[in-house]
Amino acid sequence: MSANGKPRRKFWGWGYEGRGPSEEQQRRIAELLAGRFGLAAVPEAIPAPRVEDLSLRAPRLDPPSSLAALCSTDAEDRAGHTYGKSFRDVVRALARDFANPPDVIARPRDENDVAALLDWCDAARAIAIPYGGGSSVVGGTEPPAGDRPVVTIDLERMGRVVEIDRTSRAARIEAGVYGPALEEQLRPHGLTLRHFPQSFEFSTLGGWIATRSGGHFATLYTHIDDFVESLRVVTPRGTVASRRLPGSGAGPSPDRMFIGSEGALGVVTEAWMRLQDRPRWRASASVSFADMLAGAEAVRAISQSGLAPTNCRLLDPGEAMTSGAGAGDAAILVIGFESADHRPDAWMVRALELCRDHGGTVADGAGATRDDESGGREGAVGAWRKAFLDGPYLRDTLAAIGMVSETFETAITWDRFPELHAGVTAATQDAVNRVCGAGQVNCRFTHVYPDGPAPYYSVIAPGKRGSQLQQWAEIKAAASEALIRLGGTITHHHAVGRDHRPWYDRQRPDPFARALAAAKRELDPNQILNPGVLLDRTERRDAPALRALASLGRVPPRPAGA
Ligand SMILES: Cc1cc2nc3c(=O)[nH]c(=O)nc-3n(C[C@H](O)[C@H](O)[C@H](O)COP(=O)(O)OP(=O)(O)OC[C@H]3O[C@@H](n4cnc5c(N)ncnc54)[C@H](O)[C@@H]3O)c2cc1C
Repeated sequence: MSANGKPRRKFWGWGYEGRGPSEEQQRRIAELLAGRFGLAAVPEAIPAPRVEDLSLRAPRLDPPSSLAALCSTDAEDRAGHTYGKSFRDVVRALARDFANPPDVIARPRDENDVAALLDWCDAARAIAIPYGGGSSVVGGTEPPAGDRPVVTIDLERMGRVVEIDRTSRAARIEAGVYGPALEEQLRPHGLTLRHFPQSFEFSTLGGWIATRSGGHFATLYTHIDDFVESLRVVTPRGTVASRRLPGSGAGPSPDRMFIGSEGALGVVTEAWMRLQDRPRWRASASVSFADMLAGAEAVRAISQSGLAPTNCRLLDPGEAMTSGAGAGDAAILVIGFESADHRPDAWMVRALELCRDHGGTVADGAGATRDDESGGREGAVGAWRKAFLDGPYLRDTLAAIGMVSETFETAITWDRFPELHAGVTAATQDAVNRVCGAGQVNCRFTHVYPDGPAPYYSVIAPGKRGSQLQQWAEIKAAASEALIRLGGTITHHHAVGRDHRPWYDRQRPDPFARALAAAKRELDPNQILNPGVLLDRTERRDAPALRALASLGRVPPRPAGA
C-alpha cells in the first residue's frame, strides 16, 4: 500500500504490488512447466527488485522554477517510467538493469502545462516522451540511448470526463484517464466507451489513441479509431484542434494523422469520443472444432454474415488448454453478442447454425440470452475470460522463473490466412526449438473482419537465465520475418514503437515514410518528441543484437529511406 492507502503500482512489472500469483502458486507453476518441458530442476523465481537496491544515474537536467511543481526526480518514479510492460522490459527490470531511466517525470494538470513543458524541452533540446499508463509492449515509452536528457510527460492528472453530449452520445474526455476511471465517470449517465483492451486497468485514453489500440470486442468497433470524433493535440509548433463531426469528406482526416502517431507528432490532450448505451442483454457460447483451420472457416462465415458478434475468439487446442477453456484436443470458439436495445437471441441462433454447418459441436442449450452481468462468465467462456484478466500478472511470474514468454500479433486476409498461419507457426516453433530446446507456440483470433482475421500468437519456452533477452530476440526476429514475408502486418494493435521498426520500415511505402517525416519536421523541427518511435533514424536500443542476427542472415538490413 502507498501512504494514501491506495494500492501501489509495481515499478518493475504489471499492476499492483501484492497481486498476482502467491509464492505457493508461483512454485506450482514452476513445477508444472518443469514437468512439461522436461527440465532437470524446478526453477526458482527471481525476487522482485526493491527500489533501494537500484542506483540510478543522476538526472541530467533540472526543470525551470516555473515548472518545478509539476516535476519529479524521485528514484521510484524514474524507475517506474523506464520501461513499458513487454517481456523484455520485465526481464531487464528483474535483472535490476535501470541503466537508462528518464531524467524527469512531469505531470501536467492541463493543456497549458503540456504546452509549457514542450516549450521547455524544445528550448533545452531535451527529449519529451508522452506517457499514459506505460503499458506499451513495443518500447514506446522507453528513453532512447544517448546523451540527450529525457522528460517523460505523464498525463495521469488529466483524467476527467469534461463534458457529455447526450443527444449525440459523445463525451469530451481528457487523455490521461485510465480505463476504469473513464467507465466510472460514464456509468451514471448509462453510457460506456466500450473499449476494453486487455491492459484496460493500466492504460489510458491518450495511449489508446496514440497506439490505435484494439479493444476486446471482436468485430465492428474494434480499434479506438472508430470512436474518435475529434482531437486536441499539443505540438512543439502549436495546438491542433479538429472539428467535431460524425463524418466528413473534407480531404485527408487530421484525426487520422495523429491516431497511431505514438507520441512522435504531439501530445494528445483530449478527445471527443463516440459512446454507446450500456448493454443490457448478453449471450455467450463456446463451440468446439476439430482444429484451428476448421474453426477458421466457421469464423469466416460468421464474419461475412453481417451478424457482428461482440466476441468471436477462436482458440487453437493449445491455447484452449492453457486458458482452461478446453482439454487441448479441439479448437474452441468463444462467441458472444451484446445489446442495449434488443435481445440478441436470433443473432446467436444463426451464428451457432453457421458453426454447426462448418463442423462445430455446440452443447445443448448453449447461447441463451441473459439480462444480468453473468452472461459470459461461466464454463469455457468464463475460464477464457478469467485467463484473459489474470494473464498479465502471470507473465511477470513466467519471466521471474526463467521462461521466455511473450506474444505477437498480426492481421491477414482470409485467402492468405492458412499459408501465413502455417508459415508463422513453423518459423516460430523452429526458432523456439533451436534457441530453447523445447516450447509451445499457440494461436487465437483476437479480432475478425469480413476480409480477414487478426491472429495472435503466444510463445512459452524454457529460457536460460541471463540469455532470455537474446533468446526472445531470435524468436521474435524469426516470427517477424515470416509475418512480413507472408504478407501480414507487423502489428495489428500493439503498435510499432521501437521494437517493430525494422519490419515496419519494410512494410510502410517509402513515399509515405517521407511524407510522415516531413510532417514530423513541420510539427517538431527539433525532433524532441519520442525519437526512435515510428520514423526517425535513432539507433534502436537492441541494434547490436539485430546486427548480430543480420550477420547470421536472419534479419535483412533496413533499407535506406526517411
Ligand atoms: C498485458 C497487456 C495487455 C495488452 N492488451 C492490449 C490489447 O488488448 N489491445 C491493445 O491494443 N493493446 C494492448 N496492450 C498494449 C498497450 O496496452 C496499448 O498499446 C495501449 O494502448 C497503451 O496505452 P497506455 O496508456 O499504457 O500508453 P503508454 O504505454 O504510456 O504509451 C504508448 C505510446 O503512446 C504514446 N502516448 C501515450 N499517451 C499519449 C498521449 N496522450 N499523446 C500522445 N502520445 C501518447 C507514448 O509516447 C507511446 O509511444 C497490452 C499491453 C499489456 C502489457
